[in-house]
Amino acid sequence: MRSALLPVIAAVCLFLAGVFILNTQLWYSSRAESLGGARYAANNINLILDEAFRATRVATDIANKGCNPEGQYQLGTEAALQPHLRTIVIVKSGAIWCSSLPGNRILLSQIPPMEARNLLLAPARETSNGQPILIYSTQLTASRILVTISDQHIRGALNVPLKGVHFALRVGESTIGMSGDVVSGNARYSGQISSTKYPFSIVYNQPPLFSLQRMITRGFGILLFLGVISIVTAYVLGKYLNKEMTPEEMLRRAIANGEIVPFYQMVVNGREGTLRGVEVLARWKHPRAGYISPASFIPVAEKSGLIVPLTRSLMAQVVDNMNAIESKLPEGFHVGINFSASHIAKPDFVDECLRFKDSFHRKDLNLVLEVTEREPLHVDEDLVQRLNTLHENGFVIALDDFGTGYSGLSYLHDLHIDYIKIDQSFVARVNADPDSTRILDCVLDLARKLSLSIVAEGVETKEQLDYLNKNDITFQQGYYFYKPVKFTELIKILLSKPKVKVIVE
Ligand code: C2E
Ligand code: CA
Ligand code: CA
Repeated sequence: MRSALLPVIAAVCLFLAGVFILNTQLWYSSRAESLGGARYAANNINLILDEAFRATRVATDIANKGCNPEGQYQLGTEAALQPHLRTIVIVKSGAIWCSSLPGNRILLSQIPPMEARNLLLAPARETSNGQPILIYSTQLTASRILVTISDQHIRGALNVPLKGVHFALRVGESTIGMSGDVVSGNARYSGQISSTKYPFSIVYNQPPLFSLQRMITRGFGILLFLGVISIVTAYVLGKYLNKEMTPEEMLRRAIANGEIVPFYQMVVNGREGTLRGVEVLARWKHPRAGYISPASFIPVAEKSGLIVPLTRSLMAQVVDNMNAIESKLPEGFHVGINFSASHIAKPDFVDECLRFKDSFHRKDLNLVLEVTEREPLHVDEDLVQRLNTLHENGFVIALDDFGTGYSGLSYLHDLHIDYIKIDQSFVARVNADPDSTRILDCVLDLARKLSLSIVAEGVETKEQLDYLNKNDITFQQGYYFYKPVKFTELIKILLSKPKVKVIVE
């Protein structure tokens, strides 16, 4: 589940990050383009007003010389020659004194009031032909010159071919855009630049921060590329995460993820019916498969050397667990840990065990080192020395799976073994038939002759229990009493202070 989700999340994040960068880039360039467009429009208007300025100079001359037919002709010629000008008018004492139109006429229905500004936008209702105009007005000592520019030329100057951006001319509080009449205010325009030459601004709408349409029209190729890259990333990541792992790699990951947890199986005193201790048994708490038996992963761990970190992880968890319930543990409680031969052979094994013992709050715990006889145990002087040192330091040494090993019994003379654990395969043979106990009789006889204490494993039936009690095997372990349980169940067992069902005949 996790490994399927992760590539998708990674791909989506990658795609979104790409979209974010692309959008920001497009937004910046759109903004720069809009500003460039506004400058272009402002320059167009400046050029038109330069014509008005030149015409005003001619008109000033006429205003000084007089409005005779020659002067009127000059005004008309100037208006005709300057491509963007409509009329040039000289006003004196509030009335038309001279005009470029024949008969000294004017297109304005009324002469606009005198203003400090020399630019004015006259709406359609104030002109005789019903078209808005821009007026360039110059105040002289005794007269005023008005040069008018038609709205068509204004619209032409504002017509910058930029998709989605609208430019308008703003003079004072009045604005004229690409369509419609002169209006007051410029609420819909968020950008503005002012001309440095004449008193007007170009206003325009700035591009939106995010625009899907802009991204599709201007960045479709990059969007496509991002999509492909994201899908490829998801695929590669998915392949990597789901690649076939060897059992060893899977176990290594499980140990690192803390998926190997201790289960506890009670060892009981069959005679007194009391709890003697627990054996720690590893379980793999697999996220999908549930609890996995150690029979399937301990051999892998032993072969790969992962048994050492695995056991260390278990030891740390056992310390935490036992310290958490220190007040609930019976006196002299046994805690048995299974150690593999390769772990015991590590140079720092003794120090590790001593540190382990020190970590328990309860100093009266009996820590049992269960050493299996199943694998060949290379009993050399060093190993004997190690286990004996640990024995001297209060550890209990138990020989596990007694009777199944290949190593022979010679080392029993050198090693200080506290007790043996009779393998469950011998106990399993015991049934109501008297012949069934023959092998076990021999094994027990051997153990007694070697003066070894005995724990019987795998007690499942009443017959087996009776047989063991009859033979004075007091310490027993098996499903008849308790199955291995997780830590929370162990707490429940300890809190219930049970008397184990033991019948001694
Ligand atoms: P073991 O040390 O002989 O542990 C006893 C096994 O017998 C456990 O199997 C336990 O669940 C099972 N058992 C207990 N009572 C009964 C019963 O009445 N009937 C039956 N049929 N079985 C019973 P488990 O937990 O599957 O462990 C199997 C073996 O894996 C262990 O045998 C031990 O050799 C190894 N193992 C388990 N945990 C560890 C560990 O932490 N380290 C090492 N090195 N080996 C471990
Ligand atoms: Ca064991
Ligand atoms: Ca055993």
